[in-house]
Amino acid sequence: MLLRKPLLVYVGPRANNTGTLPAMDAVASLIAGYRNFRSGTYRQNEERYQALAAQRQRPKALIIACCDSRTDPAMVFQSDPGELFVVRNVANLVPPYEPDSHYHGTSAALEFGVKALEIKDIIVMGHAGCGGIEALYDSCCGKPASGDFIPSWISLAQPVASRVLENHSDLDRADALYKLEQEAVVASLDRLRTFPFIAEREEAGTLRLHGWFYGIGSGILSIYEPAEQRFRDITD
Ligand SMILES: [Zn+2]
Repeated sequence: MLLRKPLLVYVGPRANNTGTLPAMDAVASLIAGYRNFRSGTYRQNEERYQALAAQRQRPKALIIACCDSRTDPAMVFQSDPGELFVVRNVANLVPPYEPDSHYHGTSAALEFGVKALEIKDIIVMGHAGCGGIEALYDSCCGKPASGDFIPSWISLAQPVASRVLENHSDLDRADALYKLEQEAVVASLDRLRTFPFIAEREEAGTLRLHGWFYGIGSGILSIYEPAEQRFRDITD
């Protein structure tokens, strides 16, 4: 149960009382959640947290997931702190290996996870109802995405979208989106292999790549089977 005491919260310089910002309910609930964590989960596991802090992190898997607030890997996999090294971006896309002077957040996380932390399993986790994939789909259908960064970012999966639209013109919008969401995961696996330090380790058998897909409403996780070139549901 969240605490619902009145809170004194610092409001940043851009906040004002002109109605341009919503009430503080969101921030207040976060602070209440933190207090609940601190007095409950943290206190009950204080030694474990201190042990985690005293040693280097050793996550068992690297997960590339979408920013979507409904697809938190820690929730889906019931994992504890220290277990998952999670990279989240719009539409869980993997960019190509491009070692230049630009800012490559996802690539930096991959490099650190694989080379420094020596993680042995990388999972690309797509999900149903992805807004980023929907924006890509719409951009292919005459409704370009807007923004300074989103159009360029989602265009990483443009070849996949073109292929799905061309090869599956019989599908309605919902089914085409579902197909595209899953195909984008497979394309991201291929992109991972453009990173030499990933391809080398996979080739040597010291790193495995996985494509997973999560249905928000169904709660069903599907796993990509390369031999069958399709996703298979994990049954209860
Ligand atoms: Zn998404």
